[in-house]
Amino acid sequence: MFHAYLTYEWLGPAIFVSAGGGFLLLYLHDRAHLAALRLGMAYLCTLVGFLTIMLAEGDLRPPNQAAILFSLVAGKFFLVWGVTSLFGIPFPRRAFGLLAAVLAGLVAYVNLTDAPFMDRFLVVNGFAATVNLLCGLQVWRARTQRIDVIVAGLLFFQTFMLVNRIIFIHVSQTDFSTLSAFRRSEFAASMQTENAMFAIAIGLALYARYSVTLVTQLRRLAETDALTGLLNRRAFETRVEELRAISAPLPTGLIICDIDHFKSINDRHGHDAGDRALVAFARLLERETPETAICTRLGGEEFCILLAAVDDEAIRLQATHLRAAVERLRVATPDADLQLTASFGYCRLDHGGELSVAMAQADAAVYQAKKDGRNLVRSAMAPCAGEPSLQRA
Ligand code: GH3
Ligand code: MG
Ligand code: MG
Repeated sequence: MFHAYLTYEWLGPAIFVSAGGGFLLLYLHDRAHLAALRLGMAYLCTLVGFLTIMLAEGDLRPPNQAAILFSLVAGKFFLVWGVTSLFGIPFPRRAFGLLAAVLAGLVAYVNLTDAPFMDRFLVVNGFAATVNLLCGLQVWRARTQRIDVIVAGLLFFQTFMLVNRIIFIHVSQTDFSTLSAFRRSEFAASMQTENAMFAIAIGLALYARYSVTLVTQLRRLAETDALTGLLNRRAFETRVEELRAISAPLPTGLIICDIDHFKSINDRHGHDAGDRALVAFARLLERETPETAICTRLGGEEFCILLAAVDDEAIRLQATHLRAAVERLRVATPDADLQLTASFGYCRLDHGGELSVAMAQADAAVYQAKKDGRNLVRSAMAPCAGEPSLQRA
């Protein structure tokens, strides 16, 4: 009966194949994930060298050496490319090119001088350590999530272990002058184990980072309005509670606005021009409100703004300011520069008050502004100085 005896040595290749295959599957699922393709290639390229060292008999012949060098340079190249694209930062071309050039020079030197194995070991592992350090530094500088610290930390730790290895092999009393002597040592076995362990740890950390990126992207997609990039209504309602917690116990202000005669803009200038106007209107709201304000597109040409920690007069001033800013706005379209006006309704949202009630009140104030002739601001609260309110209208 067939029976395969697999030794622990095969764990390493199994890890490289699983991690590389996993990233490639992610890429095949959605070809937009180029970082996954690059990370998959990093693992599969490294596998070539890992297998060559494992399976080659005796001292390495030139084709084996070439395979190991290819695996090292290509594996590290794809690792840095994959990691930098995952983090949305540019590939460090100059630094990597310089390291590859130094490696090429040193490889030529050790071959021409027929240098002992220890020096070859220094060249190969020195390159791996420096690229790891470079990669770790890139991640450290671009870190935004907790998992990034772990990814960078693992890359730094592996760099440290590589340097440690290089020093050990040079100061140790064991005979490491030839590859065969090195292979028989316990040190060589521990090195392969260490490589496999780092492959698992870094692979899992990168998977975790990938998941964080995907979840963040999906959440952003689910929370934003595709046309204007503002929050959508559902996300707005969730975010409002956070803002109210910050503002507590001060009230927040709610402003709802609706572009006037928007249907006629579509009718006269086309739907695309209408879309442009909506985008320009959204940018204006973001520009003309404080950074703490939350702007949202409720739907169609209706928008809403929540202001943090404001009194009645501040809400009124903000709404009045927006109305005037909309009046000054010019939206460039292929056939004309569009001018818009909008009607505004506002109310105060007291600490503990219901958002839905306040929204209904602000909406009623917008309706009143429309009824009074449009391009107006109306309050849903008791009259404030200088502004007619619902009660007065
Ligand atoms: P009022 O002054 O009373 O608000 O009149 P209005 O024409 O602005 O309001 P109405 O509700 O009659 O029309 C709103 C229009 O907004 C109708 C709809 O086609 C248009 N609209 C809704 N969503 C979009 C969109 O995403 N893009 C474009 N271009 N138009 C949209
Ligand atoms: Mg309208
Ligand atoms: Mg409307």
